[in-house]
Amino acid sequence: MNKKDHYDVIVIGGGPAGSTTAALVAEYGHRVLLLERDKFPRFQIGESLMPGTYWSFERLGLLDKLKKSSFVRKYSVQFFSGSGKGSAPFYFNQHDDHESSVTWQVVRSEFDKMMLDNAEEKGAVVKQGASVHQVLFDGERATGVQVKYRNGRVKDLSASVIVDATGRSALISRKLKTKTVEPTLKKASIFTHFKGAHRDEGIDEGATIILNTKDKDSWFWSIPLPNDVVSVGVVGDLDYLLQSRKKSAQEILEEELDLCLPMKARLEGAEQVFPVKVTQDFSYRSSELSGEGWVLVGDAFGFVDPVYSSGVFLALKSGEMAADAIHEAIEKEDFSAEQLGKWGPEFMPGMEAIRKLVYAFYSKDFSFAKFLKQHPECIDGVVDILSGNVYINDVTPIFEPMGKMCYLPKDVSSYSQKA
Ligand SMILES: Cc1cc2nc3c(=O)[nH]c(=O)nc-3n(C[C@H](O)[C@H](O)[C@H](O)COP(=O)(O)OP(=O)(O)OC[C@H]3O[C@@H](n4cnc5c(N)ncnc54)[C@H](O)[C@@H]3O)c2cc1C
Repeated sequence: MNKKDHYDVIVIGGGPAGSTTAALVAEYGHRVLLLERDKFPRFQIGESLMPGTYWSFERLGLLDKLKKSSFVRKYSVQFFSGSGKGSAPFYFNQHDDHESSVTWQVVRSEFDKMMLDNAEEKGAVVKQGASVHQVLFDGERATGVQVKYRNGRVKDLSASVIVDATGRSALISRKLKTKTVEPTLKKASIFTHFKGAHRDEGIDEGATIILNTKDKDSWFWSIPLPNDVVSVGVVGDLDYLLQSRKKSAQEILEEELDLCLPMKARLEGAEQVFPVKVTQDFSYRSSELSGEGWVLVGDAFGFVDPVYSSGVFLALKSGEMAADAIHEAIEKEDFSAEQLGKWGPEFMPGMEAIRKLVYAFYSKDFSFAKFLKQHPECIDGVVDILSGNVYINDVTPIFEPMGKMCYLPKDVSSYSQKA
């Protein structure tokens, strides 16, 4: 192989996780190639950010661009029960009066492009329209990738470290069969955008609103975006939402809206912007975070659930942590699974805390209002998880009292760093 076809690091995928890893490893001064299948800007779901993303943006040097952008400012999240009763909004800055407590609702095509451009500005070589067909292995050691460019040319490239940031394509964990779905969170979602939907006023205009349907079999999100557009989607068990009904996804969305009158009222007179999109089986994770010469970041490692908008936050956080481990690996010339995945023990508890709160949300008998009335001392812990402060504050004390009111899963023990 030609020497110029060798990189310190090849990152596969230019979503938030891949762009973060590539930007930070390049900033350390290493030779990074990022290969992205699509041509940006491209559509992606996942528009609502958690305030905890602030610290990653600060490190990436993106705060100024975000502040100058037209993305809607998000101060809070509000929940509506199946009966249509709204909780008081959870204002993040009431718990921590710092500018990091106000975040953004982003248009992902623009946001992801901003992040990818940033990786390039920091020195990563970025190729779009470059689809990786396979990761090349020598025994257990990842040694490179085979990439197909848009013009049809196929090429083998080598690197000391391969970062899988392919999102739900999860290239490596599918190949190695380490991808495990979360059996109790077998969900599906139908979503689209609406123009001219109802928005609340003042600082509530940018709130994420989560609305349960009548019998709590499903829930809607309403996420306000620029240009009077609102992202709307429904999430429910795969069986309930898709498999048990012989109807089109559009018809199902409309049936679900009839079960969620506060959401339906918000859409009165609004115009649907594009045909509904459908996705399913999005709660999973890999039993391995890293191996010899490879590491997984963002959704390529795992995704919990859309309800608390934690996906981009975890993508950025894992990208940051992986970048530091990769830099150290290059310095020490140690490309073992232990070195590349050494951030796992720090990363996993934050993901687990979010996962536990997701289980509480889906427990039909559980209500946050009831829980917080009985345990007002837990409010900071709940808001810390909703904010993404899971790597700053200890949120675990809330789970003992919460576990008495609903089923909470044990921490996943199958996850390991490959020896
Ligand atoms: C219904 C739903 C709603 C959601 N809502 C939210 C939300 O409101 N807020 C939030 O934070 N998160 C949300 N998420 C999650 C969010 O979409 C993801 O967590 C986030 O996009 C993960 O970023 P990533 O960089 O890991 O992956 P992605 O954003 O998926 O990026 C992966 C990239 O890899 C590229 N790629 C894939 N395969 C290849 C290949 N073979 N070769 C080269 N490139 C490749 C893709 O083109 C893509 O650009 C939601 C998820 C779902 C399912």
